[in-house]
Amino acid sequence: MARQPEEKKAKNILLDRRIREKISGAQDLFELWGDTLRKDPPIFFLLNSLDKKIAASREAMEVFGVASACRHCLEEDGATCCGAGIENRYTSRLLLINLLLGKALPQKRLWGNSCFFLSENGCSLKARLVLCVNYLCLKIQRLGPSEELARLQKITGEEMDESFILEEAVKRFIEEKSYGK
Ligand code: SF4
Ligand code: SF4
Repeated sequence: MARQPEEKKAKNILLDRRIREKISGAQDLFELWGDTLRKDPPIFFLLNSLDKKIAASREAMEVFGVASACRHCLEEDGATCCGAGIENRYTSRLLLINLLLGKALPQKRLWGNSCFFLSENGCSLKARLVLCVNYLCLKIQRLGPSEELARLQKITGEEMDESFILEEAVKRFIEEKSYGK
């Protein structure tokens, strides 16, 4: 049965509330410890390293044609794989990492059926979930030869590994500061 407009509206209100709480949590953590985190030598190193790996990953995606294929879906077909609700898989920690990387977080959802972080220029985040970095639909997988696809996956794999290590380091930092663990 088709979802009623009121039901849809209520679902979006609840979804927006959940992600706004995480965004506000990330902003509070950033205000409290942003400078200290950036000056902490291991985190400083990991932030720079992740920044470089994200840049390499984005470049490889551009070269393979991922970015233009996804843009085509958004502009020509009016649809993307970035559906509403995916944003809630993000933790405040990963959103905090985006702030540490100098990326501002959006304050509102642009399209009811889309992820809160989808902007007119694609994803508004820099550090993203494995799900977002890793997903390559069949159309994308067929864009180039398998060796090139394997190369792309190796580069994006390095981004995901570094992102995981940094998120763990930020988690430990917050736990030590909050509970003296
Ligand atoms: S992953 Fe594939 S289906 Fe999804 S938006 Fe990109 S090109 Fe389109
Ligand atoms: S890539 Fe960005 S916009 Fe798309 S689902 Fe992931 S976080 Fe949302």
